[in-house]
Amino acid sequence: MKNTPKTILFLFIALPSWIWAQENRFFKAPEGVSLVSTDLHIHTAFSDGSVWPNLRVEEALKEGLDLISITDHLEYQPHRSDLPNPDRNRSFDIAQKTANDSELTIIRGAEITRSMPPGHINAVFIENANKLLFPDDPIAGIKEANRQKGFVFWNHPNWEAHRKDGIARLDPLHIELIKEKLLHGIEVVNHITFSEEAIDIALENDLTMIGTSDVHKLTAWDFDIPQGGHRPMTFVLSKNESLNEIKKALFEGKTIVWFKELLIGKEEHLREVVKANLTASAPTYNKDELIAKIVLENHSANTLHLKYTGPYTFHQDGTIFKIDPYSKKTLEVKTLEVKTSLEFPFELLNGLIGQKKHLNFKILSP
Ligand SMILES: [Zn+2]
Ligand SMILES: [Zn+2]
Repeated sequence: MKNTPKTILFLFIALPSWIWAQENRFFKAPEGVSLVSTDLHIHTAFSDGSVWPNLRVEEALKEGLDLISITDHLEYQPHRSDLPNPDRNRSFDIAQKTANDSELTIIRGAEITRSMPPGHINAVFIENANKLLFPDDPIAGIKEANRQKGFVFWNHPNWEAHRKDGIARLDPLHIELIKEKLLHGIEVVNHITFSEEAIDIALENDLTMIGTSDVHKLTAWDFDIPQGGHRPMTFVLSKNESLNEIKKALFEGKTIVWFKELLIGKEEHLREVVKANLTASAPTYNKDELIAKIVLENHSANTLHLKYTGPYTFHQDGTIFKIDPYSKKTLEVKTLEVKTSLEFPFELLNGLIGQKKHLNFKILSP
């Protein structure tokens, strides 16, 4: 009895956040796949961010992420006079200690901060950030990150400070880095910006598509989280939740990026995830009618904007409609004859598999 008030207090505090985290699994994983939600580009006060690393962990836990990397700038240290920061692994160490044995995994990372080319490069799954610090050499840090078997990607290739037209394009040095297999991914989404050109660079050069928050202040402010927004995330289609498999899947390019209402990825991966998140019930008919009722269900946290590309017309909708997150929608389909099953071909208008290219997929009812 002595513990009752404490227990009740615990339930009041812990239960709502637990429920929140459970509801925020974002997307249903395809069968046999672990869909790992990540943010691999985050700053703290240990470079030019405004917060201590523990807050990054708490944000990510509240938002229901599975894995993050704190990637402070190695070279750019504007808080140096207040925070001398001789050990570039400190922000990771503090975050790791905060995450302890929570649901959230922290991996070691750093932002190698060079002028263009090659620009800013993130290295994650590294062993020691200090060893990546080569202020006078544009690629020595990248080489060292590779020696540490890190996953290395090009940040914000569309950044207006480096590309005044906002168009991502490769310089000869990037081509060289890709050829030498020293660069493995590219951000198609960074913070609040998005690069269709980077999608095509990823496809043409077999780079992994990455989307990150690159947050410096608070995710809640930057991404309107209290109003239902979310930070950009990269979902890794991994065999399981082990770090080895997650890393392997990253190297294999098995990702989809979630940015605002857009889903971006290589065609086969995006199709796999979208098909797992939209299901259709069996057609039913009212007596003496030939109009099939089908219930579509969106199992994801994202609105699906769909265009039906099949032969039928609908009784209550046009061919373009949306299904809200975690919602159902009844379609009335004029099938001309009674059908026990139907195929629905759709174009996902907010699903990108290339520059201005939308995902086409089919689902079966039932
Ligand atoms: Zn940067
Ligand atoms: Zn950054």
